[in-house]
Amino acid sequence: MNPLKKALPALQENVALRNFTTMKVGGVADWFIEAKTVEELVAAVRAAHNNKIPYFILGNGSNIIFSDSGFPGLVIRNRTASIAFTDKSQVIVDSGVLLAQLILAAASHNLSGLEALFATPGTVGGAVYGNAGTHQTAIGSLVRSVTLLRPDGKIVRVLPSWMRFKYRTSRLKEISLSEPKPVILTIRLQFARAKFEDIQKRLAEVKAWRIAKQPLGEFTAGSTFRNPGAGHDFPETEPSQQTSWSLIRQSGAHALRVGDATPSQKHANFMTNRGKATAREIRDLIEKVKERVREKTGITLTEEIEYIGHWE
Ligand SMILES: Cc1cc2nc3c(=O)[nH]c(=O)nc-3n(C[C@H](O)[C@H](O)[C@H](O)COP(=O)(O)OP(=O)(O)OC[C@H]3O[C@@H](n4cnc5c(N)ncnc54)[C@H](O)[C@@H]3O)c2cc1C
Repeated sequence: MNPLKKALPALQENVALRNFTTMKVGGVADWFIEAKTVEELVAAVRAAHNNKIPYFILGNGSNIIFSDSGFPGLVIRNRTASIAFTDKSQVIVDSGVLLAQLILAAASHNLSGLEALFATPGTVGGAVYGNAGTHQTAIGSLVRSVTLLRPDGKIVRVLPSWMRFKYRTSRLKEISLSEPKPVILTIRLQFARAKFEDIQKRLAEVKAWRIAKQPLGEFTAGSTFRNPGAGHDFPETEPSQQTSWSLIRQSGAHALRVGDATPSQKHANFMTNRGKATAREIRDLIEKVKERVREKTGITLTEEIEYIGHWE
């Protein structure tokens, strides 16, 4: 019997990854498992490690593009689900909880803090990994500690200073995708007390803002590029206050199309799969958009999304 299957009886083979991402592209994973508890998550990572099989932690697949050849190893879909409220308005949440679930659960306890991320389709783990946020706030500012499973199998608790949160990134995101990364198990977040009606009002505003500005309901992976000037990673240009979507529109790149992939007409920084796009088409479109923006503005955009699996 395959030793991985022996360690993980719920293991599945050759699973189509497109169904587990918001862009709806990508090939199959050699191996696939869903972890519903932190113990299952730890067991899956350790089994991959012990059998020297590459693993990838999949949240809700809303900020990644799997290649058409899929993932050569074990994809662990994180569906851990516990939310615990403590005193001092803190919440200890499993990394697999969806942001919307956490925000609504917090609201029902009169706790406010993450409303700006309402209607964002990610998990809390994925959000902490990429320091998800908006122009108003980022999740890193609420983090008090993070429990990690290190690649050597040890479980440790780290502080936000260790996580090095910056604009749409963290220490974990900065580690190369070809290396095994620590896995976020649980997160302790600091909320603030607020009136339920005020939180509800804010959630309705955020939802209306997203419906007006973003192509919700289409196949996308959120913002493709980071905003130049908002971070620290544009040494080749003068810091710019411009947003990526305005640079894309200004350079005419929003009209580009590769096969069934095209920038959203509602928000040009969101690349969309019109239905039948391949991962290759999405990536080629992103390259073309980058090239056009560089030609017209001299600014090189860098991706916020990640490309997973083997790419030619
Ligand atoms: C319509 C739409 C709107 C969006 N709006 C926003 C927005 O306003 N702000 C914003 O910042 N983002 C936004 N996003 C992008 C995305 O939703 C967030 O970045 C989200 O937090 C990613 O979480 P995920 O669970 O989908 O991560 P995935 O896409 O599944 O994974 C992303 C990365 O995180 C890693 N990861 C996931 N979980 C863990 C874990 N437990 N431990 C270690 N690593 C982990 C993965 O391995 C991968 O490298 C949007 C996306 C869409 C489609």
